[in-house]
Amino acid sequence: MNLNVYRCDGALLAVDCGIGFGGPEAPEVETMVPDPAWLVERRERLVGLVITHAHEDHLGAVVHLWPFLRCPVYAGPFASAVLRRKLAEAGLHGEVRLSTLPLGGRFSLPPFDLQFLDVAHSVPEAQALAIRTRHGLVLHTGDWKLDPDPLIGPRTDEAAFARLGEEGVLAMVCDSTNALVEGHSGSEGEVRRNLAAIIRGLKGRVAVTCFATNIARIESIARAATAAGRQVALFGRSLRNAEAAARECGYLRDVPPFVPEEEAGYLPDDSLLLICTGSQGEPRSALAKIAADTHPAIALGEGDTVIFSSRMIPGNERAILRLQDDLARRGCRVMTADDHMVHVSGHPARDEMKRLYGLVRPRYAIPVHGEWRHLSEHAALARSCGADPLLVEDGDVVRLAPGRPEVVAGVPTGRLAVDNGRLLPLSGGVLAARKRMLFNGLVVASLAVDREGRVLGEPKVSAPGLFEGEDVEPRQLAAEVARVIGELPSAQRREDEALREAARSVLRRAVGRRLRKRPNVEVHLLRV
Ligand SMILES: [Zn+2]
Repeated sequence: MNLNVYRCDGALLAVDCGIGFGGPEAPEVETMVPDPAWLVERRERLVGLVITHAHEDHLGAVVHLWPFLRCPVYAGPFASAVLRRKLAEAGLHGEVRLSTLPLGGRFSLPPFDLQFLDVAHSVPEAQALAIRTRHGLVLHTGDWKLDPDPLIGPRTDEAAFARLGEEGVLAMVCDSTNALVEGHSGSEGEVRRNLAAIIRGLKGRVAVTCFATNIARIESIARAATAAGRQVALFGRSLRNAEAAARECGYLRDVPPFVPEEEAGYLPDDSLLLICTGSQGEPRSALAKIAADTHPAIALGEGDTVIFSSRMIPGNERAILRLQDDLARRGCRVMTADDHMVHVSGHPARDEMKRLYGLVRPRYAIPVHGEWRHLSEHAALARSCGADPLLVEDGDVVRLAPGRPEVVAGVPTGRLAVDNGRLLPLSGGVLAARKRMLFNGLVVASLAVDREGRVLGEPKVSAPGLFEGEDVEPRQLAAEVARVIGELPSAQRREDEALREAARSVLRRAVGRRLRKRPNVEVHLLRV
């Protein structure tokens, strides 16, 4: 989840605006965005938002946060095409001033003089951003790798990086994702050859799952299918959106139109290949539906093969392994990057990082994009390459110039959960209650009392997530509430809040005794 802000002479420039996923750390949340409160308060000083590439963790939050930021947005052609579709789906098309910039182009958002530089990555047209100000040149790499054969989109423009090195780079803010990985990340070209060899040898239906925006990979899979005499169908909305954006930008020219989902099932098994969403085990994805045998258009089973041409994003392991298990249970053969060379990372391994440091020769290095262990390994690597590293955390304000860079302040940061269009603070009341309910259940009690606080009829208690409807416990709890209320001194019984609190505490204690849980307890009091 990325949202970077650069400041010069009072003006602010935002770079990337991405989403994250809840995962096991925050199971009550599906999608999260950065809390933009600090930036929103200063939005009149925000000269623009520049998007480096079309990955969700770099542009997925624009639709959620732009209504608060309301600044012009700048991106390359493919990222623009992807973002335009998202804005249209969110009903923001026409509102957002989205400018499409040429790849490798130079543009100015005073006081920032900006330049895109081509980098290879697992999405077409990723761009690094050189930020020139009167205080010096800062290179924001975004996500990148060195791939001699990226298949789609330009290679990393090493000559342009070397020219920056000649010009003199004050600081490089650089990708740390694979700072623990020795050697080289490998090439898309190699994956293309391997997929072709594997798919040629398969019988039955074949499904391949990968990231929707990895257009080079989609092209590789489609070519391998054609060479093996198979037609290709895309399964999943994000794949269809990415395909449309890719074709709009002139990619996938040699790939024939894909077979519509609803027609795929009529093709002979050996003549069909599916490309599916769901490589991260997403519950509503096409592959998850196929694994559960609930997909309306297609089924896989004995003799079929599913290839995961992707990596496991940390946090998604359990969901992915469960999906793979479900597919295996249906009789599918599951192939992954663990045992076949069907995926390469889009991020640089250590040899590539050393090469970039050699070209750019920054004075200072700011490792970003990774956990602390990645950042600190990256810092050591930067030092060995002659750069002076500075480790920062979310919310740290780094003064890059004048003087030696240092963390000079902190701004409040946080994460907001996207909850059916609403943005809720992750630590706020609604989500805290939802999380508590997830593990501790909910008890709701309704009771009617007269003016004197005497219980009328029988209180009703229900406890979804704790007891079944027909269990005796809810009735026992209701009786306990009636008894405790009946024993309260009459003065207390005349106060609504005292009655509610007495009911809540008896319910909390009673459930705690029975189930060792601390549920959310709601008491509805009706005084008649
Ligand atoms: Zn990326």
